[in-house]
Amino acid sequence: MQIKDNLTSIHQQIQTACQKVGRPQSAVKLLAVSKTKPVEAIQEAIQAGQTAFGENYVQEGVEKIQYFADKHPELEWHFIGPLQSNKTRLVAEYFDWMQTMDRAKIADRLNEQRSHYKKPLNVLIQINISDESSKSGIQPAEMLALAKHIENLPHLRLRGLMAIPAPTDDIAEQEKALSAMQVLFEELKAACPDQQIDTLSMGMSDDMRTAIACGSTMVRIGTAIFGQRNYA
Ligand SMILES: *Cc1c(COP(=O)(O)O)cnc(C)c1O
Repeated sequence: MQIKDNLTSIHQQIQTACQKVGRPQSAVKLLAVSKTKPVEAIQEAIQAGQTAFGENYVQEGVEKIQYFADKHPELEWHFIGPLQSNKTRLVAEYFDWMQTMDRAKIADRLNEQRSHYKKPLNVLIQINISDESSKSGIQPAEMLALAKHIENLPHLRLRGLMAIPAPTDDIAEQEKALSAMQVLFEELKAACPDQQIDTLSMGMSDDMRTAIACGSTMVRIGTAIFGQRNYA
């Protein structure tokens, strides 16, 4: 029951944030981040109507995808963790979306390894918007070159951008990073008119409202749905 109630509460928060800026609630999709959580928790979320899930660790994600493959073929699985080039095959084989694209080499491998019988793998370019040397993602100036590279790969489909801004409670700081992402998103759309660029993945628990005001189309929420993670 807890997970169902949490989802209801988050949908209400998304609705309120959308109303405030005159966007329809349907413009913002909720990605439930289920990393470290057992299949029972995911099952509870599915029963409450949730269909899109995000996983950070390849092996763990694949196990869950396999577990639900027959029972719930409607589910959509997003890889949202850092990806090493020796782990691309499983992402290409099992996931529907890859949100942390940050180099041509990874794009080439995923393109080669994606089964030709499957739909193309949906890809978001991850932007390092807060310019932290520790965080992954590319610099904004590198975005268009990588986008043009992905555009030529038949088994990948470029859908937009993703960012994990430096966490801060300062709304002005949040706005600075998130509105910079909005500008880049418009640039990407203009540069790739033949692509279906429709996804701006940004906004977590602490900056969800600001992200929605800045045009986010997908918020990624874990703890507020499933509770604290236990890494022990
Ligand atoms: C873990 C994670 C989230 C969700 O974080 P919570 O604090 O649990 O809501 C969102 N996006 C990414 C990329 C993550 O790794």
